[in-house]
Amino acid sequence: MSDPESDCLFCKLLEGELPCSVIRETDTTFAFRDIHPQAPTHVLLVPRTHYPDAATLAAEDPALLVDLFHVAADVAEEEGVAESGYRLLFNTGADAGQTVFHAHLHLLGGQPLGPLVG
Ligand code: C5P
Repeated sequence: MSDPESDCLFCKLLEGELPCSVIRETDTTFAFRDIHPQAPTHVLLVPRTHYPDAATLAAEDPALLVDLFHVAADVAEEEGVAESGYRLLFNTGADAGQTVFHAHLHLLGGQPLGPLVG
């Protein structure tokens, strides 16, 4: 039977088994640049513990969810987008376009962003 963590791409990035462009690490959270950026700043905030999506993360470890938002705010400052504005979003499930089933918060900014759905 497959193991969701050993098969998980983001668990492999967290473990250093695959490369990524890391910009911040804390005890609970890992932040790296999205490999296919959708905006000048596109960072993924990833909890070190594997949860398949944001809803599961919120239900099982709400403090970790809050940590992600704190790290996102710090990254937004560092990236110089805090003042101009930025977008934080979770894709949750197939219809939302979630492709990696390890919860992750997208941070997008650096330009005026278009509509959420379009
Ligand atoms: O929300 P969703 O699951 O679609 O987001 C997954 C994100 O992970 C995508 O934006 C994709 O570009 C990114 N990704 C990455 N590095 C990889 C594989 C995917 O940054 N090696």
